[in-house]
Amino acid sequence: MHDSSFGFSAPASLTHANTFRLNSRCWGLATPTTESALWQALNSVPARHRGVVILGGGSNVLLPEYLDALVIQPKIGGIRCIAEQGTDRLIEVGAGVVWDELVRVSLAQGWFGLENLSLIPGSVGACPVQNIGAYGVEVAERIVRIRAVNRQANSSHQAWREFRPEECSFGYRESRFKPADNPWVISSVTFRLSTIPRLVLDYGDVREAAGPVPTPQSVSQAIRRIRSSKLPDPANIPNVGSFFKNPIVSAEFAANVKAQHPGLPTYPQRNGTVKLAAGWLIEQCGWKGKAIGPVAMYARQALVMVNTGQAGLVDVIQLTQAIQLSVKQRFGVMLEREPVMVSGPMV
Ligand SMILES: Cc1cc2nc3c(=O)[nH]c(=O)nc-3n(C[C@H](O)[C@H](O)[C@H](O)COP(=O)(O)OP(=O)(O)OC[C@H]3O[C@@H](n4cnc5c(N)ncnc54)[C@H](O)[C@@H]3O)c2cc1C
Repeated sequence: MHDSSFGFSAPASLTHANTFRLNSRCWGLATPTTESALWQALNSVPARHRGVVILGGGSNVLLPEYLDALVIQPKIGGIRCIAEQGTDRLIEVGAGVVWDELVRVSLAQGWFGLENLSLIPGSVGACPVQNIGAYGVEVAERIVRIRAVNRQANSSHQAWREFRPEECSFGYRESRFKPADNPWVISSVTFRLSTIPRLVLDYGDVREAAGPVPTPQSVSQAIRRIRSSKLPDPANIPNVGSFFKNPIVSAEFAANVKAQHPGLPTYPQRNGTVKLAAGWLIEQCGWKGKAIGPVAMYARQALVMVNTGQAGLVDVIQLTQAIQLSVKQRFGVMLEREPVMVSGPMV
């Protein structure tokens, strides 16, 4: 079955639509390229009847073998400068634009501010969902507006609204859009970028790697090199990036753990809490490079789970729980999974 009004086909395979390469199929797939097509897809008979799952680039999801749902992958494009305010530029970007394409285009246009987020996989529509972050920058710091449609609304008139960042509950790998019952489907995101570079260099090896006279371009290239050397390319080794969040604990708790484990890397936060390096905790428990069945923790980065064969969701859950248990027993810290477990449609 195929319908071109919102790019509908049924049934559909999602195996190549998720970077962990979990074998997955769904009842139907829609790929709307405009806001009105997105609205139509959300209100189509299959959507109303079976429920909907929203998918971007599939780089932060764990999919089941079968989803009895209409999966909607917004493919709305466009990167437009909609306002110039002094040296600031407001850039409105469609949800379907590939995130790293936006980073490249903005650098080429001389709109700076996204360089530290180079090479993160996924779509622009998903970037606010877990407030993507890397090398000292979180995307929430660059967002001015998010346009979204409420999939539970009865009329198009009431369905659309815009969110300011302060309405989005942004936190570390969190936002109001991440919980499974979030009804909002993001159609575009507007960023405030600048024609004046304001480089963020104090994270990891960025300062040394960006050269003696760093520029936004050299920072972007440096981060691309660092990431490529540490993280497996999902095209070759299926993965979803960091598998666990870095735990945030009280200063007192961190001090206690550090007293027993002096090598523990700790990152004090502005609000007095302390972020611990989940990768270090996992490595200390002996999981780096270790497999259970067809899933393993990557040999060069203990925080990344990789699919080494024909893994299914059950294998992922088994390794997740084994790691959570040993980290909890050794350090008293419960690791939280970062990718979204898609268990079923939302009606
Ligand atoms: C190798 C690798 C490295 C990574 N590095 C980083 C990193 O450094 N920092 C970081 O933060 N993340 C990182 N990630 C995780 C991932 O890239 C981000 O979370 C990314 O934003 C996911 O985008 P996506 O389009 O693939 O979303 P998906 O995986 O398709 O979806 C993720 C969630 O967002 C929802 N969603 C998707 N699109 C929309 C929409 N338009 N409206 C509403 N909800 C939507 C989905 O329903 C799902 O709940 C990495 C992943 C990989 C594989």
